[in-house]
Formats: sequence, C-alpha cells, structure tokens
Amino acid sequence: MKNKTIIIGGVAGGASTATRLRRLDEQREIIMLERGEYISFANCGLPYYIGGVIQSRDALIVETVEDMQARFNIDVRIFSEAISIDKDNKVLTVKNLQTKESYQESYDHLVISTGAFPVKPPIPGIHNATNLFTLRNIPDMDRIKDYINESKPKQAAVIGGGFIGIEMAENLHHLGMEVTLVEMADQVMAPIDVEMAEIVHQHIRNKNVHLILSDGVKEFTNQGKTIILNSGKEIQADIIIFSIGVRPENKIAKEAELDLGKFGGVLVNDHLQTSDPSIYAIGDVIEVKDFVSDDPIMIPLAGPANKQGRIVADNLCGMDSIYKGSMGTSVAKVFDYTVGSTGNNEKSLIRRHIKYKTIHIHPGSHAGYYPGSSSIAMKLLFDPETEKIYGAQAVGMDGVDKRIDVIATAIRGRLKVTELKNLELSYAPPFSSAKDPVNMFGFIAENMINKLVKVIEWGDVNDLIDAKSYILDVRDEIEFQLGSIPTAINIPLPRLRKNLVDLPKDRKIYIYCQTGIRAYNAYRILIQNGFDVYNLDGAFKTYQCVFNPGDTASCQETDDSGQMIIEDTPIKDSSIEPTLKVNAIGLQCPGPIVKAFKSFQTLKDGDILEISASDPGFEKDVKTWASQGGHQLLSVDKDQQNIIAKIQKGSSPKTSMQAKQDQKGSTIVVFSQDLDKALAAFIIAQGAKAMGKDVSLFFTFWGLNILRKPKKQGVKKSFLERMFAKMMPRGTKKLPISKMNMAGMGPKMMKHIMKKKNVDSLEMMIAKAKELDIKLTACAMSMDILGIKKEELIDGIEIAGVATYLGDTDSSNHNLFI
Ligand code: FAD
Repeated sequence: MKNKTIIIGGVAGGASTATRLRRLDEQREIIMLERGEYISFANCGLPYYIGGVIQSRDALIVETVEDMQARFNIDVRIFSEAISIDKDNKVLTVKNLQTKESYQESYDHLVISTGAFPVKPPIPGIHNATNLFTLRNIPDMDRIKDYINESKPKQAAVIGGGFIGIEMAENLHHLGMEVTLVEMADQVMAPIDVEMAEIVHQHIRNKNVHLILSDGVKEFTNQGKTIILNSGKEIQADIIIFSIGVRPENKIAKEAELDLGKFGGVLVNDHLQTSDPSIYAIGDVIEVKDFVSDDPIMIPLAGPANKQGRIVADNLCGMDSIYKGSMGTSVAKVFDYTVGSTGNNEKSLIRRHIKYKTIHIHPGSHAGYYPGSSSIAMKLLFDPETEKIYGAQAVGMDGVDKRIDVIATAIRGRLKVTELKNLELSYAPPFSSAKDPVNMFGFIAENMINKLVKVIEWGDVNDLIDAKSYILDVRDEIEFQLGSIPTAINIPLPRLRKNLVDLPKDRKIYIYCQTGIRAYNAYRILIQNGFDVYNLDGAFKTYQCVFNPGDTASCQETDDSGQMIIEDTPIKDSSIEPTLKVNAIGLQCPGPIVKAFKSFQTLKDGDILEISASDPGFEKDVKTWASQGGHQLLSVDKDQQNIIAKIQKGSSPKTSMQAKQDQKGSTIVVFSQDLDKALAAFIIAQGAKAMGKDVSLFFTFWGLNILRKPKKQGVKKSFLERMFAKMMPRGTKKLPISKMNMAGMGPKMMKHIMKKKNVDSLEMMIAKAKELDIKLTACAMSMDILGIKKEELIDGIEIAGVATYLGDTDSSNHNLFI
C-alpha cells in the first residue's frame, strides 16, 4: 500500500513540504489541502502589488494548482478546509467549501502548515468599519486593491508598526495618500531596539507619514471614518489597514488535543513532530526554539517555514533531519532605508537578565571615496565573557542585508565575537571597505574584551549631564556648532595633545566624536597620559538618533502628538545657476558640511554654491547650517541617492557660524546683593576683560542695591517704594555678606582683611570696571518693581531691558548667574 501524506495548508510551508516530498518519493500519495483559492503565492509581495510597485498580479502566484499537479503529481485540493483530526484512527475530516460537503480522508502522516491569522480584537466599532482591512492572502489583497480603485481614498490610517504595517504605510503613501501610522508601543519594528527604531521614526516622518507612537485605538466611529485613540486624539481615515500582529492558526491542532506552547503555537520536537508522532507541524503555526537562547519563541517568517517544509519531507522519507531553531533574521524596506536584524535584541536580553555588551557603529556602506556610499547604523550584542554573539541590527540605505546575513551566519556557526575580525569578506570600493563593518565589530569587541577601551552607553548620557560630568567632544568646531551633547566641552582631536593641561585628572572624562573613531584615538591619547576616560558607544550619531539635540530642521520636528510640523522652505528654485559646484558625494557626515563651509570661504556674499552629497543626514544638516550661518538655502533636491543643495552666501561679512567661533563676550547676571558675591562678580569681570573679552554685568533685583548711591536722593516715591527703600541696603557700604554676616560684623571683618591683603574694595572695583569699559546695566523692570529711580544709581550705569542682556549673551561664550 502507498504511503499517504496529507498536508494542510498550501502556501509557504505546505507547498515546500509537498514538492520536496515528491522529489524524494515518487510513489507516495500526497494530498495538499488549501482552504483558499490559491496555493504557493508570495504573501511577502502583497503590499507591493497594492502599492503598484509589483504590477503583475500573476507574478505573485509562484505555482498554480495545475502546474503543481502536472509537475509534481500532487493531489491539490483548493477550497478544501481540514476541519478535524481523528488521531486514533488517523482520519481527517475535510470540508469542500464550494459544495459545503464534508468527507473523510485517511492518512499515514499529516503535516499541519496552517500559518497564522491577523489579530483583530473586539475594539468598539471594528465590525462596523466598512473601510477596515487586514492583509494575509490574495483575496485580502484584491479587496484592498478594489476598494482603493473604487473609493479613491485620500487619507489612510495604518494601525500597527510591524513589518506589514510599515510596508502598507509605504505603499499607500506611494499611491499618494496621506498616511497616519499608529503604534501602541514607543517604537515601530519590534525586533530592533529603540535607538535603532528612532532612525526609522525620523525617516518615516521625513517622508511625510504621520507617525503616532505610544497610542492605541480606543474606538472606530462613523463606520471607520473616524478613529479615536486612547489619548483622545481623533484621526480621519478613508481606508484603514489593521495590522497589529498575528496569532497561530491552531484551531484544528487544539481540537485534536495536540500539545500547544504558551504562545498558542503547536509544540514540536527537533524533527518537527507534534505530540502525535504521525503528525508534523511547521511554519507560523508552531512554536520554535530560539537558536540563540534556546527559549521557546514564535517566528512567523517565510524563511523558517520553507526550510521546515524541507526537513519534514526528509524525515517522512526516513532521513534524520533536524530543525535547530530560528534566529528571527529579517529584513524590510522602509522607504529609502533597509532595516535588518538577527538574533536577540537588547530588550529581550534585559528581560531575561542576561549580561551583555553592545557596540554601535556607523560605517559607510562602501569606501567613502567611491560615489554612493552612505552610512549604516549598526548594533551588535555579545557576551563579554563567553564572546557569544547574541544578535545584530542595522539601518541604512545600502549594504544592510549583507552585513546582517554575515552576522546571522556567524551566529549560526557559533563564531565568537572576536572572530568577526578574521572574516575575509569580499572587497572592492563600490561594495565595501577593506575593513568591512562586520570586521569592525570584531576589532571593537576585542578592544573591549582586552580592556583597551572602557565604554558608556547612550542611555547613560543624560545622567552624566545631570551629574555635571566632564563630557569631552573631540569633533571639529563646525560639527560641534551643528549640535552637541549639552554641557560638552569641545576640544577637536588635532588640538587635544596641546590642551592636556586643561583636562581634569581627578575626574572621569566621557569622550565622544561623530561615529566613534576619533573618540577612540582621543581615548588612547588620554589614557596613556594618565586620565580616566570612557568612550561613548555609538558616539554622537547614536545619541542624536534618540535625543536629536542638533536637529532644527523643520522636517524633523514633531508636535506633542508625534505628528510632523512641516514648514515651507522659503525659496524653492533649483533653476538658478550656481557660482560654484562642489561634489561631496561619498563623504560621510560632517564631510559635506565642512566642504560647504570651506567653499564659502572662496566665495563672495551673494554667490551661490551648489553642493551634492550622498550622506542622508546632509538634508537636515544643510538646513541647520545655512540658517545658523545666515545664508539662504535656495533649494534642496534629490537625485536618486544624492541630495543637491543650493545655498546663497549670506550678506554679512562674517557668518554667524564664524561669529560663534569668534565669540569673545562674557556676560554675568548679578542678582544677589551680598558683598562677597558682588566682589566675586567684579573679580571675574575684570579677569575676563584682561583676557580680551567684552564683559557685560546685568544687575537685576537685589543686585541693583550694589549700584545705589550711598546718600538718600530727593526722589518722589510711593508709600510701598519708601518701605522697600528702607529695608534694602543703600550702596556698597551697606551690603551684607552671604555667610557669617553677624549683624554687620562679618562685612567689616572682610573689608579689613581685604585691605590688609591689598585687595581692592568693591567701590574701587566698580570704578576700575568703568575705566575698563565693562558694561554695567541695571534691569529696568526690576528697578520699577523695587521702586529704585535712575537718580539713585551711581554714574555710568546703563538702564535697559532683558533683550539687551540677551543680545549680549548672543556674542558671549560664557554666562554666569551670581
Ligand atoms: P501560510 O504561508 O500563511 O500558509 C497557510 C495556509 O494554510 C493559508 O493559505 C491558509 O488558507 C491555509 N489554511 C489554514 N487553515 C487551514 C485549514 N484548516 N485547512 C486548509 N487550509 C488551511 N515573511 C518573511 O520572511 N519576509 C517577508 O517579507 C514577509 N512579508 C509578508 C507580507 C505579508 C503581507 C504577509 C501576510 C506575510 C509576510 N511574511 C513575510 C510572512 C510569511 O508569509 C509567513 O511567515 C509564511 O507564509 C508562513 O508560512 P506557513 O506555511 O506557515 O503559512
């Protein structure tokens, strides 16, 4: 008698099993049941057909029923739903969905490859939403396509920021719809970590998709035309794609009492056999072993389903074929970016209390000097003791998939993290660098393991800022101007050796640059000179991805709902003939900006520079740089992978960028009326003046009393003003000291000591300040509040408002509040 195998499900896993089985066993009776009309179709291509990127619907059908029957002699039965399994008698009940008749079919072996279905929770109004769709198969795709063709929706809402949600958002956007993407979590694309997802968020927003994070759907009203979110926000939608995740299609397995795992997936052994040895299960319906952690996990991806199909066929034919687990290696296109990941992410390692280290790098996709190179943000997770690689993530425009695949292979081959440095990977300038980014991971991991470098993570930076830690930025000044970590001190790497005396030996120094390379060089200089140094992993780029401190480009700004605020670029005229054309293609950030800056030095005011760059960050950098520099950004255009900007040089002889670099001012707000604090203010002011700075002291509130004449002036005052005047010290002689005032004894003792030690009195210091042209300004608003009149102030004092003071701070690089 013929061996008889029935396969339930005719797409990824099912079709793979069937065809491999036939190739191995020509005699076997193979029946493949499929509930729907189509078998072996490309689910992964469905969003792109909807978006019109894939134009042929037929191209999505990998194998027709007729072909499968003719080429493989498989009994393919479409519209046939398996509805129950009698394990004891090895009999399956099948319903013909066209005739509605049921029949029984015996089997020797059964393979369940029923996949997963989209989750659709009972949200109020969901069933009345006539414009709401999920996407799983060809009929779903046809329904969406027909609806779009007939109803011509203008506004689309995609609920769920997973792979399918994002692909649909992109494709609906491609069709010209205004798209809002809503995600309940604080990030899209769960397999990657939040700092990597931030790059994706920015990119999605840059593409004019409204991205709403940390918010879910509370209700659909108006037949789905209005979506009310948990936050109370309302979205109008002509079409809704509901894509919040999938659940295993386990009904038939559950009813047959096959063992299920905690996620509802069918449990299988490493031969992919269920709890009934005659029944195998594969694909989205099963729970698998995480190859990295050995933990149970659900991985609904096409790669594992297809490979499992082959393994089951092998086992059915007597081979000993084992499934060793899934790693969740995945890749997705998100507009111009590729997002890839493999293995465990940081979130899951934290959840499982596993010790790990991370490395973030931002290498070029290929040699920077060869056109078209762009930066990839990459992250690696590993165990610093065993050197086991846990996982990797990458986001970039080019070269992401190849790096993720190499690391996935390394994980599968159980390579140690330091062995990544030895991988001999193909190299020529258009494709990679002699040290491929994957090699770089190996080098850095080795440095960390051998303690050649100590690192801190981007997540620690805000604590460092709060703790007033010493943060050193070793990038060039121009990069620093474009955005930096708050409180950081800038000493460019080339000047570091000469400035070692300025660095503290008694404090930890936290060092960073743009991508990590210069900071590592600086780190090595400092460590060998006896400093206690920590390098910021991922450098400014990773920090910026999350906190975006230097990003003032309007296209990146969002309101508190996470929606984009789009401001018009003032002039958009790309037809103007430039004075100078500069090619910065292939240069990584900040190379294009530095090139623009240098080119401007050769141009006259009013001249126009056209600069082409491939660095994706250039688009926002050039906006920031132009506005900070007082130049006019005439146009920003995109040509395939390149960004072409035209900038007109500002009319001022010195750009504000240069002005910032030349800042010579020192501003001090004197708020206190304490003698000791007033002395400190004047000492610092004189010191700053001696160093060639323009010094301005702004006296406000109690600080005004320092400037009062010692004698009572015959000015008219209201009752309250007279009361105030009585309670406040009149002039320098009457000022208290902040500590040990002792009813006026303290100031007297201090003045005595100062005289003995030959230190100028406060009166003399004020006189000297005037002689030195130090600007003394009394705050007009505080004078009004305290009832202090102009006549009561000593000579040589300017009376002005806060705008004057703020104007002074503009040209100041140091500002004190005393
Ligand atoms: P499926 O391929 O879903 O096949 C299951 C079949 O079983 C279905 O056709 C169903 O009708 C049938 N069935 C269910 N119950 C019964 C029953 N009782 N009787 C008879 N028939 C039954 N993965 C990637 O790796 N990369 C991608 O880019 C990607 N993109 C995707 C895009 C979309 C829109 C979708 C929906 C999925 C995508 N996937 C992607 C996931 C991938 O398609 C699945 O992981 C893979 O198809 C799973 O294979 P499977 O055999 O388990 O299930």
